[in-house]
Amino acid sequence: IAKQTGGNCSMIFTQSIQEQIERRKLIQQSLLQAVEDEQFELYYQPKVGGISRRVCGYEALVRWNHPSLGMLSPVEFIPIAEDNGAILPLGDWIFENACLYAKNLNDIGLIDLPVAINISAIQLSDPGWLDRLLLILDKTQLPTHLIELELTESQLLTDIENSTDTINYIRSLGIKVALDDFGTGYSSLSYLRNLPLDTLKIDRSFVSHLQEGHENYDLAIIKAVTTLAKQLGMALVAEGVEQSTQEKILTDIGCDQLQGYLYSKPIPAEEFLELCLKSLATSKKMNNF
Ligand code: C2E
Ligand code: MG
Ligand code: MG
Ligand code: MG
Repeated sequence: IAKQTGGNCSMIFTQSIQEQIERRKLIQQSLLQAVEDEQFELYYQPKVGGISRRVCGYEALVRWNHPSLGMLSPVEFIPIAEDNGAILPLGDWIFENACLYAKNLNDIGLIDLPVAINISAIQLSDPGWLDRLLLILDKTQLPTHLIELELTESQLLTDIENSTDTINYIRSLGIKVALDDFGTGYSSLSYLRNLPLDTLKIDRSFVSHLQEGHENYDLAIIKAVTTLAKQLGMALVAEGVEQSTQEKILTDIGCDQLQGYLYSKPIPAEEFLELCLKSLATSKKMNNF
């Protein structure tokens, strides 16, 4: 009996692994065609000023409306796209569409709201990427000061010399550069001094444990990172803000920008536009008083 059960268990186990492999294969095989067919959609999540509490920027986050699997998370398909190279055309599509959207917001009067775009390591190290970026900038005519690229530590550290050159060039165009998920990689503080960055985004894992009245390590780390960012002349963004107690702590510490479900989840383009228009209307009303 034991043998039989074991056999059954292992069959169930094998099947689910098999399913995962099939799913991954399907995603892998349909990625390139999906870029051509534009099955992707950009959602937008606001960043809120630490003092003003008004929308002060936003991040583009990609979603894939897969014909048979439904809406897919970037957590699932971005690593696969990085593996098979589809991230290059997909990344270009994301960059172009985020720029077009931002240009549109700027043209209808929602000025000075920068768009943050996530860039994969594979894009950064692709020799043709910068040329294509220049073409898209030319095509979309979005003022470069309204663009911020979000990069992660691990991708910068794999080839720090090349990364530094690329970032210097990007910044010479007027584009800002942020370090995403700060604190999750092999954070060596010495490289921070050498990397020309505009913004640090402290990872949501540090924010999620913040509680008022509870002195904890995460609070100590966030305080230290805030000081570090200030000293290095960088802006500090906290991601993953879900509770008003976290908001209060972060504002008291002097965090410049806040982002998280407390304000809004990432939402479709139309909805984000409405959110911005509401935010603009409220601030106009306040100015009239
Ligand atoms: P990320 O750039 O660090 O983005 C933040 C992630 O945290 C997003 O997940 C966002 O929806 C989620 N988030 C925001 N606020 C909260 C909160 O208060 N609580 C919780 N629990 N989560 C929150 P998403 O959209 O699933 O994206 C996951 C990751 O996928 C991103 O992490 C980024 O690394 C990657 N990604 C997303 N879009 C793109 C893209 O266009 N290009 C590239 N290369 N990567 C992307
Ligand atoms: Mg990001
Ligand atoms: Mg992040
Ligand atoms: Mg993160």
